[in-house]
Amino acid sequence: MIIIDGSEGEGGGQIVRNACALSLVTGLPFRITNVRGKRAKPGLMRQHVTAIEAACAIGNARCEGLAVGSGEIAFTPGTVVPGDYRFAVGTAGSTGLVLQTVLMPLVLAAAPSRLVLEGGTHNMLAPPFEFIAECFLPVLGRMGPRVTARLVRHGFYPRGGGRIEVDIAPAPLVPINADDRGALVARSGIAMIAGLPHEIADREIAAARKGLDWPGDAFAVHALPESSGPGNILLLTAAFANVSEIVSGFGKLGVPAEQLAFKAAARMAGYLESSAFAGPYLADQLMLPFVLAGGGSFTTVKPSQHCLTAADIVAAFTGRRPEFTRLASGAHRISFG
Ligand code: AMP
Repeated sequence: MIIIDGSEGEGGGQIVRNACALSLVTGLPFRITNVRGKRAKPGLMRQHVTAIEAACAIGNARCEGLAVGSGEIAFTPGTVVPGDYRFAVGTAGSTGLVLQTVLMPLVLAAAPSRLVLEGGTHNMLAPPFEFIAECFLPVLGRMGPRVTARLVRHGFYPRGGGRIEVDIAPAPLVPINADDRGALVARSGIAMIAGLPHEIADREIAAARKGLDWPGDAFAVHALPESSGPGNILLLTAAFANVSEIVSGFGKLGVPAEQLAFKAAARMAGYLESSAFAGPYLADQLMLPFVLAGGGSFTTVKPSQHCLTAADIVAAFTGRRPEFTRLASGAHRISFG
């Protein structure tokens, strides 16, 4: 039984999700104490419970201590059964984070799967749908598995009600070297707005334009039906030949539109200045596929705490620790195998 202190490193939900995924793939049981020990409200939240339930459903697994607020869980994996599954996060909890939990086991399964995930699609502190579809899945596709995701309905906090559908064509994961992002091919800044005044989106775009010297026609407002609101997100995308980066600014009551847009633009400018392949979020999300491929490497900006913690969890399950090297360019290379 692998014992993990959930308050170590990043100390959040990612430890739980990565442990479930790795447990289902390796067949090794685990126990986590101090679940989400570094969060203001420690213990499992509704969305983590749904993610673990999803892992239990696809992997015939058992989990003791599975309840909202629980600070300790013991997970015993079973056999992963690919197929059609529907998981609904009862709140606006992130569908993307449920996907993170079950994707690797299903990608390595013997037959295709189809997932319907309901809940939030554009949540703070989680990958928005576009990030999954345009940043993460294309890299996974280069490693073998074909995974396509469709956004059927947007779901914003607190209302939720979003829906994504994911088709998974499994394949063995092949190591790749993703050191070079390639040439810039496109950039865009989309302010999505639902059930809120249009001028919020206009102000976000005006502020983002001040922070990035992108042409005016790279920016647009995308107004969604009022019924999916209230909701607002600014998505800044830089597409390179080998990878895309999406920086998001989440609209929040009390946070001025300009402030979130300036911050997002500054983060995008930082990524553009570096030569790295993966931005900070993509880096932690690529840890599992790369470790399961058993080799390869990618470059990233300064490794985040999420990334370092993912390396710890990976080492606990596989006995292999990814190697972090600082390059002369200032970027970092993470090597596997
Ligand atoms: P945790 O904070 O432990 O629940 O983990 C959050 C997960 O969501 C990590 O895998 C992050 O990479 C991912 N994430 C958080 N914010 C974003 C964002 N703005 N864009 C893409 N991924 C994100």
